[in-house]
Amino acid sequence: MRLNTNWNRRSFIGSLGALASAVALPFKGAFAAASPQKPAPTITGFGSTGNPYEELGVPTVINAEGTMTVLGGSLPHPELEAVMARAGRHFVSIADLEVAAGNRITQMLKLPDGYTALVTSGAAAAMQSGLAGILTGDNEAFIRQIPDLTGMKSEVIIQKTHRNPFDHQLRTTGIKLVEIETREQLRRAVNERTAMMHFSNFANAAGQIKVDEWVKLGKQYNIPCMNDAAADTPPVSHLWDYANMGYDLITFSGGKAIRGPQCAGLLIGRKDLVACALLNNSPHEDTLGRSQKVGKEEIIGMIKALEMYLNEDHDALEKEWQARLQLVSRELAKIPGVTTSFFTPDIANHVPHMRITWDEAKVKITPQEVSKTLRSSKPSIVIGSGEGHPGLAMNSFMLQPGEPEIIAQQLSRILKEHSA
Ligand SMILES: *Cc1c(COP(=O)(O)O)cnc(C)c1O
Repeated sequence: MRLNTNWNRRSFIGSLGALASAVALPFKGAFAAASPQKPAPTITGFGSTGNPYEELGVPTVINAEGTMTVLGGSLPHPELEAVMARAGRHFVSIADLEVAAGNRITQMLKLPDGYTALVTSGAAAAMQSGLAGILTGDNEAFIRQIPDLTGMKSEVIIQKTHRNPFDHQLRTTGIKLVEIETREQLRRAVNERTAMMHFSNFANAAGQIKVDEWVKLGKQYNIPCMNDAAADTPPVSHLWDYANMGYDLITFSGGKAIRGPQCAGLLIGRKDLVACALLNNSPHEDTLGRSQKVGKEEIIGMIKALEMYLNEDHDALEKEWQARLQLVSRELAKIPGVTTSFFTPDIANHVPHMRITWDEAKVKITPQEVSKTLRSSKPSIVIGSGEGHPGLAMNSFMLQPGEPEIIAQQLSRILKEHSA
């Protein structure tokens, strides 16, 4: 009885406190309704099994290939999903949000003076709207007119070895790509129609002019330089390295190793150019970039993803990725004729990789056949046969708990089945 009274008093006082703050701060009460303590909604119908993909008959895969857009990029942290869900509970001016997000990201990345950032729907969108901004400036007629470039500059210089499928997003602005190989060809290519010099960061080793010299030459010729570094974190420092190097515009994917929203990316660059890029982008209508809508959830999610990415223990992560590969390697080493070796690409997917090769006299199956068998097995496993190299190549940074074990088991089963 007495206990009961005490309990009642305590809970009464407790609720008074809650009431007082609700009265004093009515809006706080409104936000509290959307707090994480709120139980997850009950899902009925579509999605109720926990795997909406399987419900559609599209099998999910174990991803040992990396941050591939065709496989869905990367998986967000639950904390990121929670913040994005909160972003979906309010209306806001998207144009104002973009500017505020840019300021926050600039502080977080400690970008140099005169730089800011824009959240786009991806690195490809960042390329297109960044270039569009250079072409149109803040001229409203030009913004409506593009990709008809009458009255604007119309050429972008690129090293021949830097051409890749993503330069389509430059060509959508109506420009012509001018390919060069040597410094002399570059010098001769620059003219009054030149709008920009483009650099594909992953192709650094392939071109005669490297990343630091390219931007120096750009300054010398007074032509803005863009660096597409979409897949080039880690290392995390790349997020500011190219701005510090002097690049006028730099692009990153949000939905790759940064593990941001899949439909987000970053355009980092000079404030004047980034402002003009936004004028050419959604939410502004009658613009080239209206088709590249980025939502409030993605804009908020991109900030949160960067915050989490910057706070990550990158050395510990790398050790973990290496340990996952070692686990698979130990299992495969038991099979006669099978060899594993480790490598880390210098740039783009700069994470631990493992190559798996075997003596085909002892294990009678080709890497392509193994890759295909894994893909059609249950669960389906995606491992690339390593781009012109012998054997299979895998990485582990997108693997989920328990998946390295499944890969080790399945791979060794297939290889053993074909052992002489
Ligand atoms: C992935 C990628 C892009 C496109 O990035 P999205 O964020 O998917 O738009 C552009 N360039 C390169 C080199 C890439 O790897």
